[in-house]
Parts: sequence; C-alpha cells; structure tokens
Amino acid sequence: MKIGGLIKFTLIDFPGRPAAVIFTQGCNFRCRYCHNPELVYPHLFTEPVPQEEIFSFLQRRQGTLEGVVISGGEPTLQEGLIPFTADIKKMGYAVKLDTNGARPDVLAELLDKKLLDYIAMDLKAPLDKYSLITSVDTPPEILMKSMQLIRQSGVAYEFRTTYDKEVLTDADIQALEKLTDKEHYRVQECLPVAKEKAALKVLHKEI
Ligand code: SF4
Repeated sequence: MKIGGLIKFTLIDFPGRPAAVIFTQGCNFRCRYCHNPELVYPHLFTEPVPQEEIFSFLQRRQGTLEGVVISGGEPTLQEGLIPFTADIKKMGYAVKLDTNGARPDVLAELLDKKLLDYIAMDLKAPLDKYSLITSVDTPPEILMKSMQLIRQSGVAYEFRTTYDKEVLTDADIQALEKLTDKEHYRVQECLPVAKEKAALKVLHKEI
C-alpha cells in the first residue's frame, strides 16, 4: 500500500461514525478539478507513510474511533488493498471505501470478503461526458458494473457528483439522479483547488 496521508479524526467523512481517513497514492483518472494532485501525479508524491505507523495509530485509537475511510487517489489500484482492509476490519473498525468505480473486480472481491461497511462512488458525469471531466476514456460498462455491484451489495452506499459548472449542466445532474436514486445521490460543490491544496498540506504536516 502506498499511503500519502492520514486525517486522524473526522466526523463528516463516514456517515454516523467518528473516523480516520487514509489517503492512497495513485489514480487512473485526471479530473480537471482534482483536489489532491499530490495523490495523483507521481512526481508530486511524498515518501509513503509506513503501514506500521497507520496500524500503530489505529491501535491507539481503538475505542475512540469507530471507522476508517480508505480514500485517494484511487484505493482500488493498490496491490495490497484486500489484506490491508482485512487487517483494519480485524481491529474492529468499520470501513468506508471512496472509489471512482474504475475497478469493479476489486470492488467485487472486497464485497465478497465482507470487508466494507460503506461505499461512496463518484459519478463524474453522464456516461457520454465522462472523459470531459476525467481526461481518460473509461468504458461505460465498467462504471455501470461498479454501480450495479454497489446497489446489490446490501452495504450502505452513496453516489456523488462534484458539480463542475464549466462542464456539467442542470440537465446532466438530473440525468445522473435518474441513473441512481435520490436517496443515495449527493451533489457536492466544486471547490476551488487552491483551498483544498492548503488543506492537504496541513494533512501531510500532521503525519
Ligand atoms: S478520481 Fe479523485 S483523486 Fe482521481 S483524479 Fe479524479 S478527483 Fe482526483
């Protein structure tokens, strides 16, 4: 696992649970509004945080934290994600996965092994406009497969869209809402990148 950062405590990233957030390095998308370039572009990667440090931290917080969010970058690209997640579950934590949905095979394995308690998948755009946001071509069937797995999993989930008004329209958001369902769909504001970059710098300092 290549881990680029850790938020030690959050009440807003894992619905209903005080949690820590682990950020993995590497992503297969290049979203135009990406808030975490340090986790996407290899030349910006910092020295990865050793896994032992993460587990030692989680051991100390047992009884205080209830959940761990595995975010990125894109976590499903990480070689060691399955055993890493299993080890976190063994410690008694609930696990939330943040994913862009590009690796349904990994998602399926995590679900088969019952390693997830919450899944948040980004829906970047209506399928025919996806690459306008991500700058890469992703076969729509891959994204649909991930959505189907999530919906049928029995695990709590949400789909979410960052509303980039330079690319998306209100009609696009309505189309996405139909692709999901209102109860499990959230639209978030497209924040200025500079603000988020400042937040990530604090995160690196904390480790
Ligand atoms: S999927 Fe997420 S981490 Fe990857 S480029 Fe897009 S916004 Fe950034």
